[in-house]
Amino acid sequence: MPWVQSEMCTGCGDCVEECPSGAILLENDTASINMEDCIRCGTCHDLCPEEAIRHDGERVAADVEVNIEKTKECMEACERHLGDAEEAAKCLTRWIKHYNRIRTIAEKTIEGLESLQ
Ligand code: SF4
Ligand code: SF4
Repeated sequence: MPWVQSEMCTGCGDCVEECPSGAILLENDTASINMEDCIRCGTCHDLCPEEAIRHDGERVAADVEVNIEKTKECMEACERHLGDAEEAAKCLTRWIKHYNRIRTIAEKTIEGLESLQ
């Protein structure tokens, strides 16, 4: 999904006017995209004069970092609330299972989508 790098947005409103699904809002002179309504057409990315609308592929490294930090926080909370370091290890195992499940869903989804080509 596209996303807005807010510090680059000047609030011109061009993307709001041109978005075919009305997915972009302007608040305090900064655009934001409602992902529920976005149809991934790419119009906003192509027209933004400030190049403030970015591709989601550019956020992979940051998203990975967020996931790792979130897991570390959860492990600490498990150890704190449940008693010992063993609980942190179990927590880590659960998170790895969680991301393995997401990977499986993504792989099977891609297979399904490629069959539509
Ligand atoms: S077109 Fe670009 S600069 Fe203008 S409101 Fe949209 S994101 Fe901001
Ligand atoms: S990709 Fe298309 S639908 Fe999504 S926010 Fe941009 S212009 Fe709107």
